[in-house]
Amino acid sequence: MTRAATATVGERCPQCSTATVAAAGSDVPWCPGCEFGLDTYDPSTAPWRGTRWLSRWGYRRAFHLDDELRSQLVVDPSSAALRRSGETALMAVSALITIVSLACFVGVVLVWSRTDWVPPAKFFASVGLVLLGIWTRPRFGRLPRSLKKVPADQAPALRGLIREVASAVGTSEPDVLVLLADEVNMAVTRVGVRGRSVLVIGIPLWLLLTPEMRVAVLAHELGHLNNRDPLRATLTRPATAIFASAVDWTGGHNPWRRLGDRLDRADDDSFATMLFRLLLAAVNTIFASVQLAIDAVAAPDHRRAEYAADLASREAAGSTATIAALDRLTFLDDLVKALVHDVVTKAPTDWVTLAERRQAALQDQLLVRRQASRRGSDLWATHPPNGCRAALIEALPVVPGTVPVDPEHGARVDAELRHWYASTHREILGARDFLG
Ligand SMILES: [Zn+2]
Ligand SMILES: [Zn+2]
Repeated sequence: MTRAATATVGERCPQCSTATVAAAGSDVPWCPGCEFGLDTYDPSTAPWRGTRWLSRWGYRRAFHLDDELRSQLVVDPSSAALRRSGETALMAVSALITIVSLACFVGVVLVWSRTDWVPPAKFFASVGLVLLGIWTRPRFGRLPRSLKKVPADQAPALRGLIREVASAVGTSEPDVLVLLADEVNMAVTRVGVRGRSVLVIGIPLWLLLTPEMRVAVLAHELGHLNNRDPLRATLTRPATAIFASAVDWTGGHNPWRRLGDRLDRADDDSFATMLFRLLLAAVNTIFASVQLAIDAVAAPDHRRAEYAADLASREAAGSTATIAALDRLTFLDDLVKALVHDVVTKAPTDWVTLAERRQAALQDQLLVRRQASRRGSDLWATHPPNGCRAALIEALPVVPGTVPVDPEHGARVDAELRHWYASTHREILGARDFLG
């Protein structure tokens, strides 16, 4: 996430003499004219990954990957589907992990079939094998219970729009639709052994998008389904989740901070207890490091998949709507903040007008904001910076899109979602009261 605002630093660019700028609260400038210095690591805007060295490496690697992918995709957009070597390696590792899991359960049967082992030995060997088998089991993902599926007979107009966009990007309607009152986000995933596809629409984001942008964001998500990204995520999950779960089992993230807090509070802990906690924190750090390394292997393919989904969005919604949607995301923090102030007097269906107005007032900062989004580059981020994504679509020929926007249909969607809109309104009013 980028800082909300940028300021002029005052120095002149040594290459083109343009006045340099920096993110708010930062003193690491870049030139908005020729982007000189934009690739400099800025610890105040790049995500923190445990150590400065790692954070800087993740930043530089991501920055370089974005440049590389963008220059490839501009020349040949169809190459977005190619070269998934990291994913292939992770699928192979996942297959091995699954075999280990199966072998563990077979091992339990073998242990109990032995006649030369005493029962306690059989018991402890079985417990060890079962735990290892559970840890290495295939993981199919599931919907958190708190997420409510929209019943199949509800929201027919929205489902009609989703079907239309899905067919434009070459896929079918998702099996499950989930609407969230409090998420400024949209996503697709696959869950369960059957791999049912799920589309999640965060109503607060939906309400800040124009009808054209809604088509663009839907096309991006459904483009992931067409490109089989959620299926790939399932097939690589044994490798990508195994150490993440080990991190959870050993206490979760920030083990050293937790240990420090514990040391401050627990004077009566025995030496043995403290030693155990120290060991647990060390093991947790090893697991977390392995997890980061695995995720780093997956990251280039993941980035490519995001650009590929943007290209699907360009085809279905057209270049203009795709770029507009990405720029809306670039300004999203400002728009949400502004909304929190106006939310009492304005109905949810007016929020998009508020967003349009607020963004129009900020539009002269667009170029700098797009650049600033790159200062938050991170190899482990779920998406490349919005500025890079918009720049890729802008560098390609303008296409009109294939999904027509019908205002009447849009009004029907708004009408049938009014209960969800009302709960989002309540959520934001609650957040506003909380913020004071
Ligand atoms: Zn310059
Ligand atoms: Zn995406």
